[in-house]
Amino acid sequence: MKKGRIFSGARPTGRQHIGNYLGALQNWIKLQDEYNCIYCIVDIHALTSLEDTSNLQNNIREMILDWLAVGLDPKKSILFVQSHVPEVMELHTLLSMVTPLSWLLRVPTFKEKIKLQPENVNYGLVGYPVLMTSDIVLYKATVVPVGEDQLPHLELAREIIRRFNSLFGYTFPEPKGKLTNYPLVIGLDGKEKMSKQAGNDIELALSAGETIEKIKTAYTDPARRYRSDPGHPDKCNVYKLMNYFESTSVSGIAEKCQKAEIGCVDCKMILAEAINKALEPIREQRAELAANPKYIAEVLADGAERAQIIARETLTEVKKNMRLI
Ligand code: SF4
Repeated sequence: MKKGRIFSGARPTGRQHIGNYLGALQNWIKLQDEYNCIYCIVDIHALTSLEDTSNLQNNIREMILDWLAVGLDPKKSILFVQSHVPEVMELHTLLSMVTPLSWLLRVPTFKEKIKLQPENVNYGLVGYPVLMTSDIVLYKATVVPVGEDQLPHLELAREIIRRFNSLFGYTFPEPKGKLTNYPLVIGLDGKEKMSKQAGNDIELALSAGETIEKIKTAYTDPARRYRSDPGHPDKCNVYKLMNYFESTSVSGIAEKCQKAEIGCVDCKMILAEAINKALEPIREQRAELAANPKYIAEVLADGAERAQIIARETLTEVKKNMRLI
């Protein structure tokens, strides 16, 4: 007996990197056995900041390949693309009628987005939290995995739900946040969170050779200007990354670094080997999946079909409660 229904989504950013894997996907994989999970590639959300959609389909394909290769299982979870279940857009319109504009304008991420894309402050950007709420309630999710920074978004969703329920009668459960300590994976530049945008990422799908080349560029302890300088592993991102990957060779590195018994070039090679070893089965699985586009299309079609059964039922209930039918 599973504990409840989880909804979680991610924008179609294409190939996933180690930060995505350690930060979200590993958690999603674990949750599959405890909950009925719905994992969605939220392509409509992407449109709020995307004016050029020429890569959208390719990004969706690359993303689902990675999701499946790391272990998201379409037999256990519903995996689908947001726009393939258009009911979410209808519910978004209906929920927008009960959401005060003032609630949306005070959302911190809206203010941040205005600064990031001042030339494209579109209507969808303001309504983003309403669409996010629609995603959750359309499937009557009871649990939403969140990082601490996302708690305000979930609270807003809960406010919208409470308002709807008080106006039209109990319709939606209030989802609870499942706080997850996502590790903040810093990118190869040693400064920012690992991201495609910052160009400091290591994609899961890179070849072993490409991974080595990427890791050669990684930032290390700035105090180690020469091989003979003692290092500070706690200030070195290569060392932090190493700790995420199980490898017997990691043990003892800190001490060797502090005593200047190992150089950064050798250390980076150890990290590259550990990552390559951990990712090898994922890469093999990905290559097999990539050779079978029919299967990928079937997974997404089946996911959308299963999601739509729930969505239609919810939307009918919403319309009845709103006296639209
Ligand atoms: Fe970092 Fe390793 Fe260099 Fe030490 S030896 S500074 S842990 S890369």
